[in-house]
Formats: sequence, C-alpha cells, structure tokens
Amino acid sequence: MNTPILNPATGEVLTAVEPVSRVGTDAAIAAAAAAFESWRNTAASDRALLLRRFAAAVDADTENLAALEVANAGHTISSARWEAGNVRDVLAYFAGAPERHTGAQIPVAGGIDITFHEPLGVVGVIVPWNFPMPIAAWGFAPALAAGNTVVLKPAELTPLTALRLGELALEAGIPEGVFQVLPGKGSVIGARFVTHPAVRKVVFTGSTEVGRQIMAGCSEQIKRLTLELGGKSANIVFDDVDLPAVAAAAPAGAFDNAGQDCCARSRVLVQATVFDRFLELLEPGISALEVGDPAQESTRMGPLISAAQRDRVAGFVQETEVAFRGKAPDGPGFWFPPTVLIPQRDSRALREEIFGPVLAVVPFRDEADAVRLANDSAYGLSGSIWTSDIGRALRVARGVEAGNLSVNSHSSVRYATPFGGFKQSGLGRELGPDALDAFTETKNVFISTGR
Ligand code: NAP
Ligand code: MG
Repeated sequence: MNTPILNPATGEVLTAVEPVSRVGTDAAIAAAAAAFESWRNTAASDRALLLRRFAAAVDADTENLAALEVANAGHTISSARWEAGNVRDVLAYFAGAPERHTGAQIPVAGGIDITFHEPLGVVGVIVPWNFPMPIAAWGFAPALAAGNTVVLKPAELTPLTALRLGELALEAGIPEGVFQVLPGKGSVIGARFVTHPAVRKVVFTGSTEVGRQIMAGCSEQIKRLTLELGGKSANIVFDDVDLPAVAAAAPAGAFDNAGQDCCARSRVLVQATVFDRFLELLEPGISALEVGDPAQESTRMGPLISAAQRDRVAGFVQETEVAFRGKAPDGPGFWFPPTVLIPQRDSRALREEIFGPVLAVVPFRDEADAVRLANDSAYGLSGSIWTSDIGRALRVARGVEAGNLSVNSHSSVRYATPFGGFKQSGLGRELGPDALDAFTETKNVFISTGR
C-alpha cells in the first residue's frame, strides 16, 4: 500500500509514495554492490567532474527542491532555498576531494611504505525528517567522493526532496546503482542496512534511542558507523554583552525549523544579574515572531512535522511554568506557538530534547556554574557563548562538553568544518576536510627494495 505524504501546514495529502520492501531493499543493495567496482575505479578526476555536474543540477533545480520542502516539511521558503543551496555547496566542496585525497609515503628500512585510502563499498545513509536535504547530502556527498556507492533512506514522512535528488544524480550522469534513494520504513529499510553484510557502513541521523539500537546492531559485523543524534544545546549569556542584541538573537537560535533542529539552543542560561532584564527583552521578539504559511516570504516559522510531534512537544509544556508565548495559526496543520519556559533545574524540560519551539531560560551565578549547568545533560552537540571577554569565551568554550560551539553567534554547521557530538549526541564527525577518512579504510603497503 502506498504511504500518503502530508503537508504539515495544512494536514492535506500531497501525494502517495510506494514504500520499498525488504526484498526491494536487498535488490537495491545488490545493485549498489554491483556498481561499486566500476565507481571505485572511475578516475578521481571523472568522479570529481560528475559530482560537480550533480551540484550544478541541484543548483538549477533549487526553486523546485525548495518548493517540495516547503510543502512536505513545512520549512519556510527562505530556509528551504538555503537547504537546496547547501546540498549544491556540499557536493561542490566534496567534488574537490577525490583528486586531493592523498596517502602517505613513510620512511622505513628495506623498502618503500605507502598508504591508500580504500573506499568501503556500499554505504547506507538513514535520514530524519527535520532537514531532509542537508543531512542526506552530508552523508552521500563525501561517501560518493571517496568511491563508495550509496543507498539512502529518507524519513517516511519526508521522502520527496530525496527522491528528486536521486533523479538529479542520474540526470547529471552519476551511473545507475551508484546513488539510490529508497523511501519507506526505518524498521524495514534502515534495519536492513544494519544487517545486510554488503552494506559496510551506516550513517545515521535521528533519535538517540534508534541510534543506540543501530549501534548495537552494527556490532554484529563490526560495521562502520557514524551517529548524529539529539541535542540539548545551551546558549550561555554573560552579563557583559549587548543584552538587547543577544535577546533579539535568541529566538532565531532556538526556533529555526520550529525548534526541530538537533543544534537548537533550547536552553538559555543567563547570568543572574541580568536574568529579569533578559526576559523583558526576549518577550517582544517572541510575540512578534511571524508564524504561519511557510510559502510566504515574510514567514519566520512554520508548523511542526506531524500531529505526533505536536503532542509530544505539548506534553513538555503542560508540566512546566510558561513565562510567555507567541502566536500560531489555529485550524488545520500541526501548529505550535513559540513558548518560553522558566523550569526548575531538575525539570525534564531542561534535560530532554523537546524538538519543538520551546525555549527554557534559567539563571546561573558565575562562570563555573554556567559550565556545570551546560554540561548537566546526556547530550553534547552544540552551543553558544555570548560575552565580550575573549579569555572567558575561550575558557567556557573549552569547558563545555559539546562538538560545535559558537562565540557571539548561533552558527553550528559549516560544510568546511567538522560537525558532530560529544556524549550521547553521537559518534564520529561529518563534513570538513577530514570527512573522507570516515568513508575509507587506510591500507598500508610495504614494497621491498630487496636489501
Ligand atoms: P527516529 O525514529 O530516530 O528516525 C530517524 C530515521 O531513522 C528515520 O529515517 C527513521 O525511519 C529511521 N528509523 C527508525 N527506526 C529505525 C530502525 N529500527 N532501524 C533503522 N532506521 C530506523 O526519529 P523520529 O521518530 O523521527 O523522531 C523522534 C525524536 O528524535 C524527535 O522528537 C527528536 O527528539 C529526535 N530527532 C533528532 C534528530 C536529529 O537531527 N538529531 C532528527 C530527528 C529526530 P522512519 O521515518 O520510517 O521512522
Ligand atoms: Mg521514530
């Protein structure tokens, strides 16, 4: 039976997609395994050229891809255009990699020693619904650049842009079987990536709960694995900043993609001396936030992805003191207003990933208290530090247990820099100059010179 695909802004059915079965998954993996030999042996310069053509095809299709994401994921049109552009940029960046992925020549006695970076084989990429395009590309672009073939499973709720990217790859000349998109269920397709022996690596982004199961499953075959899991990132605000500017920036740090962002700064830790003033300054930014039709250029926040996600978010808010809330449309669609909580330090809302437009604001005493509070979480993905004291910025950045920190900014992910989590936020790093190392094995070859 085909799976109906909904528009989360209206609750209406957009289209229906035929899910790939277990048998279909095995056939796709077999096709990917068959395509591997010729793809790995394609000259590095030709692989680079094909990836540049793929990037150009994505660029030419930006408006179409963005419109699909607005309709299927409820992303604002400005975000969706950025996301399609990010796929193009990630492909262009990794198109430069095949010809530069050099090995080493190591001085040894009696001969010559050289290393090769060998591709792994078939790589399975499992993508969540929150950023269907970029998260897919962070997996498939370096995997392909390194000479692997890829099977990609989009989230069941959001397969449309991934399916389009699969078509664009073929149009760009990427050979059949090298990059395949398999829509359908995680428990069928994603789980098969874990158990199928021809899949040599799994790249998973999603919940810590499913990530844990995948890690356990991969242990059976010592299968390579990258995990990008949840977050509960802290935005730490010291009292020496331009407070109105920092308060004005906080909603964007937390409510991008309606807070359905693993890097969302969903906890704001504010120095006690300016806590009340910060809340006063934050409120107008929350009430003025334009929440509505994501296709409108002026909209800053769209709906949540599903009724289930909305109910989950609402559960956290019911238990905690609400400081203030913004607006959201009522009627059909999965809407939730931007909400600011002032929870107790032991509250669930301060520890668990809510994955919605909910910001928890808490006071801290001093630098040590701020770091302790920031680290009081099983997660460690991202975070921000706002201060005008550069020494303090560096001390706190070194003290916070997270993979991606920004000083006086909310940025998290750049394709040219490594991205990933500490603790239960993940395993391994994506993107950046070393990404291909995670998609290859190092092979050492010694050649005797005979004496
Ligand atoms: P999820 O279940 O972890 O789903 C992520 C991906 O894994 C989807 O493609 C899913 O397929 C697939 N999957 C599910 N079960 C699987 C299995 N047993 N084996 C292999 N693949 C499997 O996440 P969710 O249920 O969509 O979201 C739940 C919560 O996770 C969110 O509320 C949020 O807290 C967190 N989350 C975090 C991120 C992040 O970026 N770190 C992203 C999304 C969600 P289906 O689509 O078929 O389920
Ligand atoms: Mg799930």
